Amino acid sequence: MSIKDNLLRIKQSIPNNVTLIAVSKTKPQEDIMQAYNAGQRVFGENKAQEMKEKYANLPKDIQWHMIGHLQENKVKYIVPFVSMIHSVDSLKILLAVNKRALLCNRVVDCLFEMDISHEESKFGLSMQELRAILLSEEYKEMKNIRICGLMGIGSITDLREQTKKEFYELKEMFLEVKREFFANAPYFSQISMGMSSDYDLAIQEGSTMVRIGSDIFGARDYTK
Ligand SMILES: *Cc1c(COP(=O)(O)O)cnc(C)c1O
Repeated sequence: MSIKDNLLRIKQSIPNNVTLIAVSKTKPQEDIMQAYNAGQRVFGENKAQEMKEKYANLPKDIQWHMIGHLQENKVKYIVPFVSMIHSVDSLKILLAVNKRALLCNRVVDCLFEMDISHEESKFGLSMQELRAILLSEEYKEMKNIRICGLMGIGSITDLREQTKKEFYELKEMFLEVKREFFANAPYFSQISMGMSSDYDLAIQEGSTMVRIGSDIFGARDYTK
């Protein structure tokens, strides 16, 4: 199946109110252009420098979403153009994004990445850590970031019940944080969850953004 066929098939299987983020990490610009020519405008990348290069070379109406763990010294590469950062996992990173965004005269949309799988290799905040950030004086003073919701990555497992439970919990966290901190903020509305192997479950549990890579572009080759 071509990238275009994959994209159209997936688009048909997800509701209109769910944003499809085509995850193009490691994939060449030709592949992105195939998806672009099939109408896709929202792409996800997990490395700041790779995203910056692709941004420079590709059409300017593409919306770039950062979905990978960010290092403080890489923030500068993406803040000038990024549409949304899904992977804010510390106060330190949020401060770095805010500082750069101020220099660019932008307000950058962000999601907090939550730890829902409790896997060693993954990043993400606990509810307690998230509350500490939202209650901090530093957070209250930031004017150049806007928190639009939460993101989570499900466990790598064949146990679909486990993944479904994690997505359910992320939705519960979202509702709790909305009630406590964003009750009057209509922009706090996004739950980014679901990848190729589990986006159907994520949508059942209330996802508003699915991040799909291999089902669109084929398996990734990390040896290159
Ligand atoms: C790579 C990646 C995806 C997409 O994974 P697929 O299994 O290829 O769909 C989604 N989210 C994050 C955070 C990723 O790093």
